[in-house]
Amino acid sequence: VSFDAFGLAPEIRKAIAEQGYTTPTPIQAQAIPVVLSGRDVMGAAQTGTGKTASFSLPILQRLLPLASTSTSPARHPIRALILTPTRELADQVAANVFAYGKYTALRSAVVFGGVDMNPQSEALRRGVEILIATPGRLLDHVQQKTANLGQVQMLVLDEADRMLDMGFLPDLQRILNLLPDSRQTLLFSATFSNEIKRLAGSYLRDPQTIET
Ligand code: AMP
Repeated sequence: VSFDAFGLAPEIRKAIAEQGYTTPTPIQAQAIPVVLSGRDVMGAAQTGTGKTASFSLPILQRLLPLASTSTSPARHPIRALILTPTRELADQVAANVFAYGKYTALRSAVVFGGVDMNPQSEALRRGVEILIATPGRLLDHVQQKTANLGQVQMLVLDEADRMLDMGFLPDLQRILNLLPDSRQTLLFSATFSNEIKRLAGSYLRDPQTIET
């Protein structure tokens, strides 16, 4: 398989080539077509497998028709939400999304706890289509009304097992209840424990399971 087979837009392919990627990793080869099709995904993947691109590239592709060059924040509602357990992972995922999306008009931002909220609030007020966040800080922004989740179409739960281990289940439930029902949900986890299966059972719709 090559990246050409996915039908990704030229501006995304250009960014992939710039990263030096020539061949999709196994998780990418399996997940990208499924995510592009709009289906929910339950993916078993560790860090280092290329899982970030396996959800980020199809998110960019699916949101591309909604990209706006308007400076009006109203034209840039949050369409994709990527939740991660830690600030380090959030930062890493955001760096990838910025790199893969650099030739698109889509905007993205990252928010996590332990740092000043104000610069994050500024970015959110300008409007972003893709938000990478840790759960607690996201809820802070929701409470302050700097983040509105009413138009989220795609949700990623990255390293879902670690989020549960860290006690984020109540925060996740609160966030999930704010999202539209008609959304695509992608859950990635190193293991499929009973808790993960229960989470998937509650919040995913007929997911395609991907194990590499
Ligand atoms: P991840 O598992 O998403 O954290 O990715 C691990 C590393 O692999 C990162 O440094 C990526 O930039 C890199 N990577 C992801 N996909 C590919 C690919 N198809 N070819 C080469 N490197 C890749």
